[in-house]
Order: sequence, then C-alpha cells, then structure tokens
Amino acid sequence: MMKISEREMRRISATHVFTARGEGVLADHSIVLGGAQILDVLPDTEAEIKYPDLAIERYEDCTILPGLVNCHSHTSMPGDGRTVEDAAGVSDGVLLLRAANNVRAALRTGVTTLADLGARAGVAFALRDALAEGEVMGPRLVLAGMPATSRMGHCWPWGGVVRDASEMRTLARSQFARGADLLKVMGTGGGTVGTDPFRPQFSREVLEAATQEARAAGRPAFAHCSATDAVRLAIETAFDVIVHGTFHNEEGVLTGLDDRSADLALEHGVYWNPTLAVARSSIPQLERAENPDRELIERKKKIWKERAEGVRRLHELGVPIVAGSDEGWGSYRFGGFILELEALEESGIPSPDVLLSGTLNSAAALGVEEMVGSLECGKRADLVVVEGRPFREVSALRRVQKVILGGRDASPGEPGFPVPSFVERWV
Ligand SMILES: [Zn+2]
Repeated sequence: MMKISEREMRRISATHVFTARGEGVLADHSIVLGGAQILDVLPDTEAEIKYPDLAIERYEDCTILPGLVNCHSHTSMPGDGRTVEDAAGVSDGVLLLRAANNVRAALRTGVTTLADLGARAGVAFALRDALAEGEVMGPRLVLAGMPATSRMGHCWPWGGVVRDASEMRTLARSQFARGADLLKVMGTGGGTVGTDPFRPQFSREVLEAATQEARAAGRPAFAHCSATDAVRLAIETAFDVIVHGTFHNEEGVLTGLDDRSADLALEHGVYWNPTLAVARSSIPQLERAENPDRELIERKKKIWKERAEGVRRLHELGVPIVAGSDEGWGSYRFGGFILELEALEESGIPSPDVLLSGTLNSAAALGVEEMVGSLECGKRADLVVVEGRPFREVSALRRVQKVILGGRDASPGEPGFPVPSFVERWV
C-alpha cells in the first residue's frame, strides 16, 4: 500500500460501530481513514496507543456504519408520479440535470453507492462522467445503462429493444462497452402502458444469451420479474438478481410465496430485490385525494402485507434480500432509501439483517463488495454516522450526523448539502 502521511489520516470514533462483517455491534471503536481508504478498525483504547497524534472525531450515542448501498434506482426519473412515457419528450439535458439533483439527495441521506437500473441511452453514463469531472456531487454509481426489453415492452422508450438472442447479445455488448456495470433485462412487462406484467417477455434462449454475455463481461445480470413463470425462468437461465419478484399467475392474481421459486433461488444462490416501499408509494397520495377510494386503498394495503410476508419467508429460508428502493419510479422521490429499509424491517426481517441488506449484501449483488459495503481495512472510506442505534430500529438512519465519501465529508451541513427535507413515512 502507498505510504499515507498523517495529514491525510482521520480517526472517527463512536459509541457503536456496525461493520457489516458479521461480528455484531462493536462498542467504542475507531475507524481510521487513510486518504480515500479505510486503514484500520480497532477499539478506542488501542487506537489511543497506535495513533497517539491523530485527532479524534468522536460521536457520542451514535453509530458508525458503512455507507449505504442502494442497488436499485432510476436517477433520471422524477418520482412524482410521472412515467417513462411522460419523459419521452424531455431532452437528455433535462434528464441529466434532474439526475444530478437526485443523486445529491441520495448522498446526503447516507447512500454512498447507488445503482441506476435503467435510463435512456447515455444519460446515466453522462451523469457518471459529470461526477468524475467534479461538476456534480453524488454517490458512487453502478450503472445498467439501457435495460433490454421486447418490442413495445416494459420501458421501451429508453431504447433497449431486442427481438431475438442475437440482438440481445449486441445490446449487452454495447452497454458493457459503454461502461455498464451490470445487465438489466425486463423479464416481464410492467408499468409501461400496453405491456403485460404477468407474462415473460423473452424465451429461454434469449434470456440465456443475456446471462452468457453478462458472464463473459464478468458482471451480474438483473431480471425485472412480476410473474411467477418469469421468476422461475430467470433463475433457471442463471440471472444473479431477481428484481421485484412478485408472484402473479397468468391471470394477474397475486399469490403467496411460490415454493418452487424459493427452492430454485436457494439452489442457484440468487439475490432478491423485493422493492417493497415503491409498492405502497401511491397510498399516501390516494389517501390525500378529495374523495379517497377506500376500497382501492385497502386492497393496496392488503397486497402490500401479502408481499411483505413473502419477503420475510424468503429471508428466513436464507435467500439474501438486497435493498434497492426503485426510487425515481412512480411516486417515490429521491432521498428516501430509508423507506425501503423501514419496509423490510416492517416485513419482519430483524434490524441488523436489514442493515446488511442495505450495505454488504447489496454491494455483493452489484458485484462491488470488494470495494464497499462494510467497514474493513482496504475498502473505500465510505461511511455514515447516525444518532442512535439503527441495529435496534433502522429509523435511526433518519438522523444522519455525517456522511463520508472516499474519505471526504459529504454531510448535511457541508456546502451544497442543505439539511434534507423530512421524508414522509409510508404506512
Ligand atoms: Zn426499477
């Protein structure tokens, strides 16, 4: 390792440290940063001896965690109810400006690694270029580029339309050549008008072509699936991450957890990104309406409970649940990753496991766990300090005291980082 001068070193200490290394919560520990890397994680008493000249940045009754990793968002979408179709006439420049504001909102809530799982050609890549140029401040980005979809399929206005295995290969290669970090495939239709969320969009052959290309590039493949048949097919064709993973039959009837899918998931070692919060993001809006449609609201709440129960069971069975909020989509504004974490906790997953979903597991699903996701020597110096004990109740993550990205402050009080507005709770 390069020699680091004391000038580039920092020592941050708190009452509690959640490293995400599976050792539980450490009391009165220090994280020593050397430039952009984590240099040491050790008890305060040892740090006093080993680093006697280093000033201590101490946080009493607070918890230090790894910077949060949100494995699913759409940075160029507004999250105010406008759709992919609505954005069809909006220029790339406007989408880029929106994305810049969105990622800044995510960073100030402690998200230091953020995946964009789908945008119009070029926009997300331009955003990353702008971050590298220092024009925008935001988290590290993990990008899908254009997701692959069928003709007039889910999110077709983004441009990733493929008709057969050969076109799937061409699209995948072009996205990886442009700098994509993963491949996203729309395994079923979705919210895009005219698409069918309850049936697979692609044959086995086309899906296999996709995962072969991802494997050849050494990158993970993500499948958007909102139908039981599509979930099974995606796992069988070697996708690494199931996105949404809702169990609908061909008639569109939501069922409980599909046991066969659960078995396949365990057998193939897939990650599961349930996007629980976005599923209820429309409820507050419906409730605020002048004449709220009580029946619709109750139906939505019931569906949510059923989905949450399925996610809890998957977790119990040992399927790694990864936190990706899908923010930007629907009525889910940026800066609200906490809502997904709270939803996972509410589903019955223990708080420390929810924190793992939003740090190390999420990083592993994205294929970036060597760099981020836990507080370990040699990893990037990305961390967040919050007041309280998020390992007891994740809502403590709403009380961010400090965000550090690559060893540098990126906190609410820093220039360019106004105090985040209150994020509405969705019940
Ligand atoms: Zn999405």
